[in-house]
Amino acid sequence: MGRIRQHQALEERLLFERSSPGKIGYQLPALDVPPVDPERALGSVHVREEIPGFPEVSEVEVIRHFTRLSSWNYAIDSGMYPLGSCTMKYNPRLNEAVARIDGIIDAHPYQPECLAQGMLEIQRTLEAYLAEICGMDAVTLQPAAGAHGELTGLLLIRAYLESRGDARRVVLIPDSAHGTNPATASIAGYEVVEIPSNRLGMIDLATLRDAVDDSVAALMVTNPNTVGIFEQDIAEVAAALHERGAQLYMDGANMNALVGIARPGDFGVDVMHLNLHKTFSTPHGGGGPGAGPVAVKRHLEPHLPLPRIRAAESGLSFDWDRPASIGRVRAFYGNFGVLVRALAYILAHGGDGLRNATVDAVLNANYIRKGLEGRYELPYEAPSMHECIFSDSRQAKHGVKTGDIAKRLIDYGFHPYTVSFPLIVRGALMIEPTETESKHELDEFIAAMRSIAEEAERDPDLIRRSPVTTRTSRVDETRAARKPILKWQSAGQE
Ligand SMILES: *Cc1c(COP(=O)(O)O)cnc(C)c1O
Repeated sequence: MGRIRQHQALEERLLFERSSPGKIGYQLPALDVPPVDPERALGSVHVREEIPGFPEVSEVEVIRHFTRLSSWNYAIDSGMYPLGSCTMKYNPRLNEAVARIDGIIDAHPYQPECLAQGMLEIQRTLEAYLAEICGMDAVTLQPAAGAHGELTGLLLIRAYLESRGDARRVVLIPDSAHGTNPATASIAGYEVVEIPSNRLGMIDLATLRDAVDDSVAALMVTNPNTVGIFEQDIAEVAAALHERGAQLYMDGANMNALVGIARPGDFGVDVMHLNLHKTFSTPHGGGGPGAGPVAVKRHLEPHLPLPRIRAAESGLSFDWDRPASIGRVRAFYGNFGVLVRALAYILAHGGDGLRNATVDAVLNANYIRKGLEGRYELPYEAPSMHECIFSDSRQAKHGVKTGDIAKRLIDYGFHPYTVSFPLIVRGALMIEPTETESKHELDEFIAAMRSIAEEAERDPDLIRRSPVTTRTSRVDETRAARKPILKWQSAGQE
């Protein structure tokens, strides 16, 4: 009797284990041109006799293997993704359809400008909309991600201050900041000085005023900040910096709480980035591609990356003659397909639609907050914006930590929330539903979280063992990070 096959959804063997010598997934006709000697064409270092251990399988085996694996992915198209700080919203299919329009999908960065007028118009239009949304004067679309936008923004600040003969050393960063902020400041050559948050989870104005002196180039602030609270003194913060010749950088990753309601340019921000792959609904996750456009006030515009788009009678063209520019920050013009999707999203929503998305995102986060308060500890009183933060202090009494609750949530069919971030909240649970979740889905999420809170009292052991319904249960995450196995080894090979 044969082995009983595991249901395909529960087990998938390595492709290597299906391999047998000589099996092949393609057939080509005989060459009708003289063969080229690969060693002469590529150089002998690039030519291998064989690839050791490469799986030899048929087409149908490759297709089934990867199709089955793809069904194991949790994705925004399969369920709610409440990761805080990430704005994992649904990406409308309309954006995809627009990005696949013939002229757009076939465009090439080396196309002459006269044949790329449509592409230039797309970029120019998107720049204008983003500037309007942020209340800023000019935008560059080049940076490929949020962190890349931060670096671009700080290089702009550096170029501006140096052009005034006032190079400075220090960048101030609140202790609630996303880890990319201090990393960026350090890579841009600045010394980082941390500003402690006050009891309310905000920047304390008096503390900030004490910290700003003539060595400070900028403050990098996220608003709403990473505890999901709007920095209410932001205009005074900006004034305190400007009085001493320092700049205000805003990390715009949380713009999903502001679009259509408040404009950073109006509350004193000099430079900021946006994450199009968060706020403007382009696909997100798996390492990219993303886009982190940077918006600036007029005084920083001369320093923006090359080239800029210029409009004349004869049409649009690239302007390379900008001596104060920091130069290119990326090959070509940014991740163009992502830019197209963001523009499609903006146009499909219109001003009212964008504003509604913001209002719904804030409403949804507060709905969850209300649904869970009393079951999970709220570290801050101030109303939440687009995300809400709890701590695990009630559950920790039973030995259940935020990471355990997150794992149990997988059994309930949800992607975990953000675990243990921001760092200033001990045992943080950070939840961001976004506007794209229905009330039905939010209710199911709340019910799951409440049920886990009960289980934490009744059966803490179960939660510490979870997930228990998945293909793989707890893995040793430390070992996986420290000693990853990146290569298949045949039995007996160590
Ligand atoms: C996501 C995020 C970033 C980094 O953006 P990437 O596009 O991932 O580089 C920076 N700051 C905050 C607050 C974020 O949420």
